[in-house]
Amino acid sequence: MSLIPVLNGFSEKNHTWCAEEVPLDQIAKQFGTPTYVYSKKALSDAFNAYEAACKKPNGEHRARVHYAMKANSNLAILNLFARLGAGFDIVSAGELARVLAAGGSANQVVFSGVGKSKQEMIAALKAGVKCFNLESIPELTRLNEVASELGVVAPISLRVNPDVDPKTHPYISTGLKGNKFGIAYDDVLKTYQEAAKMSSCKIVGIDCHIGSQITEISPYLDALDRVLDLIKALDSAGIKIHHLDIGGGLGISYTDETPPAITDFANTLLNHIEQKGYGHLEVLFEPGRSLVGNAGLLLTSIEYLKPGETKNFCIVDAAMNDLMRPAMYEAYHAIVPVKTNTNTETLTYDIVGPICESGDWLGRDRALAVKPGDQLAILSAGAYGFTMSSNYNTRGRAAEVMVDGSQVHLIRERETIESLFANERLLP
Ligand SMILES: *Cc1c(COP(=O)(O)O)cnc(C)c1O
Repeated sequence: MSLIPVLNGFSEKNHTWCAEEVPLDQIAKQFGTPTYVYSKKALSDAFNAYEAACKKPNGEHRARVHYAMKANSNLAILNLFARLGAGFDIVSAGELARVLAAGGSANQVVFSGVGKSKQEMIAALKAGVKCFNLESIPELTRLNEVASELGVVAPISLRVNPDVDPKTHPYISTGLKGNKFGIAYDDVLKTYQEAAKMSSCKIVGIDCHIGSQITEISPYLDALDRVLDLIKALDSAGIKIHHLDIGGGLGISYTDETPPAITDFANTLLNHIEQKGYGHLEVLFEPGRSLVGNAGLLLTSIEYLKPGETKNFCIVDAAMNDLMRPAMYEAYHAIVPVKTNTNTETLTYDIVGPICESGDWLGRDRALAVKPGDQLAILSAGAYGFTMSSNYNTRGRAAEVMVDGSQVHLIRERETIESLFANERLLP
């Protein structure tokens, strides 16, 4: 049996899975498969769950949400969040261009990542981003030079590696000593002192981000305490911090995980900051997965059922190039038939794609009553789904649609085959 997470925006009605009011088989018929389907309600509700904690009763913000858009950077999703009042956390100049194209403002953008190029720094300085989250002295030195050449001052924050164990998958844990991320805890004070001497950088904040798919609150409180201690030490050294960016990483339920609810999570951290006497700081959250993960699914059609000697395979038209997470992290996604079959035998299948790799699987050992031509919904695919997809095996990337009540909006056309090699050239 596949364990199904509690979902908002997607449900089974009359034996058919629907996105809001729209049956998924209708979407498959209209747009083809594989197609990513998002629920506008689920996206908005997740954002508003953060806002419920971030907004004071008088409407003022005690914290701001900067959507970590690498989780899903479709323009329609960015535009929706921008309209709801989000800022953005970006990791490349490409993402900055997307924010601007989607109607977001540069002055609500924080620029994260360990390897910002000179060109990216120039683009972000010209656009006027809110803050650069820096991770090393060489990066700080380069930014200072680039800002000085442009005759501007770069607002900066240093990313602290608080050395706490987020208890998640090693590939998505980022706040441990052995990770490439952040500035080692013991070096933070002296790195800020270096930064304070740089005439084209202005210290505005401090940040950390300890990992992803974190389902407990205690690693956050540990990290927070360590960062608050640093803020105190910095203050004694005459370095004033205006904002505290506590990163993203809140997990979602893919099956039976029980992460804290968004509003409780945000309230707990904000109350903790206030209790420790730092209520005057502007607080930033950088959620990615928790805003979009369960607001999307990947709709796919069954091509063949292939009985095997030791296993049955359910071969679908989506593959690891569409959804990398199972191949990359052995991630679990619940998979449900769009329509319930009553007269079909239930068998245990591995759900696999057409790609020439044994790693090309989307689900293992799932009990399904299905036949060729049926559609399956791969749930919880809104985060790190489309954005990690590729053209491997010269497969065009999937279409994306957003459902709003009974309406379906195409928000990305399926890629055509010709477009996949349009930039390639034959030798003369
Ligand atoms: C990826 C990332 C996030 C978002 O992480 P989620 O687990 O998707 O919430 C936030 N901040 C930084 C710096 C990141 O790299």
